[in-house]
Amino acid sequence: MRTTGTVGSREDKRGAAPAKHLKAAIQKGARYEMAKDPICGMTVDEETAKWKSEYEGETYYFCAERCKQTFDKNPKRFVK
Ligand SMILES: [Zn+2]
Repeated sequence: MRTTGTVGSREDKRGAAPAKHLKAAIQKGARYEMAKDPICGMTVDEETAKWKSEYEGETYYFCAERCKQTFDKNPKRFVK
């Protein structure tokens, strides 16, 4: 036995969930600053980056140890 009331309320819940998710994702995205690996151009998450270097007061993030080493050898080459 089907009741239209049950179907209707289920659809309402379904419709609300994605919109809520999207809003949260946008808010999270606005807070997050993604850094760019100056060596290979990859986007690096500052929150989880393992490799970083400071050069002339700026912090640079790298996707791998090799990229950091390349940078450390000659930072001037990669910084404008
Ligand atoms: Zn890299």
